[in-house]
Amino acid sequence: MTTTVFDVINPATEEIIQTVPLAGLAEVDAAIARAAAAYESWRAIAPADRSLLLRRFAAAVDADLENLAQLEVRNAGHTIVNARWEAGNVRDVLNYYSAAPERHFGKQIPVAGGVNVTFHEPLGVVGVIVPWNFPMPIAGWGFAPALAAGNTVVLKPAEVTPLTALRLGELALEAGIPDGVFQVIPGKGSIVGQRFVTHPAVRKVVFTGSTGVGKQIMAGCAEQVKRVTLELGGKSANIVFDDADLELAAAAAPGGAFDNAGQDCCARSRILVQRSAYDRFLELLEPAVLGLGVGDPADSTTAMGPLISAQQLKTVSSFVPDGAPVAFRGKAPEGPGFWFPPTVLTPDLDAPSFREEIFGPVVAVVPFDDEADAIRIANDTHYGLSGSIWTSKVDRALRVARAVESGNLSVNSHSSVRYSTPFGGFKQSGLGRELGPDALDAFTETKNVFISTNPA
Ligand code: NAP
Ligand code: MG
Repeated sequence: MTTTVFDVINPATEEIIQTVPLAGLAEVDAAIARAAAAYESWRAIAPADRSLLLRRFAAAVDADLENLAQLEVRNAGHTIVNARWEAGNVRDVLNYYSAAPERHFGKQIPVAGGVNVTFHEPLGVVGVIVPWNFPMPIAGWGFAPALAAGNTVVLKPAEVTPLTALRLGELALEAGIPDGVFQVIPGKGSIVGQRFVTHPAVRKVVFTGSTGVGKQIMAGCAEQVKRVTLELGGKSANIVFDDADLELAAAAAPGGAFDNAGQDCCARSRILVQRSAYDRFLELLEPAVLGLGVGDPADSTTAMGPLISAQQLKTVSSFVPDGAPVAFRGKAPEGPGFWFPPTVLTPDLDAPSFREEIFGPVVAVVPFDDEADAIRIANDTHYGLSGSIWTSKVDRALRVARAVESGNLSVNSHSSVRYSTPFGGFKQSGLGRELGPDALDAFTETKNVFISTNPA
């Protein structure tokens, strides 16, 4: 049998850092069979013991945090500051859900003639498909609650970013998670990912990635009525009212749009500014963008690294052709690496750069007239993942937050993700929610049992 391999490239230097063998169909099927075999004993482990194993896994991640972070700097070009946060997020999510096995309560529901109780039963084997933009956190949001609920997990990292996922697989074993309970299978989406969809022993697919592939996965899962969670794309609005602290809003806007070089499904890639504050906001935004430190991601003062690949650089560049309405743009290194400067556009509302997800450091700024106009523009998209509202009026903040069709909003802030709160999209940004107190519901079936107290 010939094994295919993939050359993993450092996007800041274009050097090959490692060659990773890719699984073919036979290997995926073997891994799924191991996961199915491991399931009965994993679900039967006493709740406190499963909790303990997850806490040991979290401790192993913590002990390896710097190594994981450095791996992500090399493999994904993430800034070291971000990469440390990302490894820490895996640890925190494991710790958070390690408390779940002993607290995953069912209900006792009053009925006539007996006792009625509900149980949360695990599903079986869960397939997690991860994109390249946040390889560690997105993996953890899938595998930690899935394992806590008593499922076994097969995880496919994106082809271009397998290294931290492979390391997490090793750490799980070192921490005592039994063989077959959590397996990482690098391979092509069209082979490994697709097999999660078609293999009958995989009872649920957790997919994060593009809306196009997400639709195919949902359609494929329909064949077996397979459970599916989708976290897809976004084109989120950052709405700045003229009553906001404009200095703060302008200083924060680059972080909301350019973090992770804009390769963030939550990127606030459309900035909507009230017309009366529009010129002043752009004036304040310009130095914030020009001053952004773009360069070596291993340097802890760097704010933005490279794009992930030559392909991504080509895609992002296509949104900024010659003659594009560039208001201003920052700096980026010359030479090797997939660099693109942070760029601010002032396009028309129907321009592709205003409507389509770019997934790069390009932000579009447009004016609006009043609250109703802002809400209309913000909602005029088939996406609905995140967004921000900058205002000093609490009534306006609440009205607009309720009116924007989006799963994760922040007021006077750009933060979207906390492991203890739910995360997910409206409309074509996704289906279902990850993280937060209810995530285990997505990895279990509710079983209802009636016990007669008057047996005939
Ligand atoms: P993608 O092409 O959809 O790939 C995502 C994952 O799916 C990768 O592991 C990929 O494997 C796999 N895949 C590709 N085709 C498949 C198929 N036919 N069946 C099963 N799996 C398949 O997305 P991407 O280009 O990696 O990531 C960028 C996109 O993801 C953006 O649109 C972004 O908004 C979205 N995203 C959303 C969130 C969120 O939480 N909502 C988070 C991150 C990213 P290969 O690597 O082998 O192609
Ligand atoms: Mg792709």
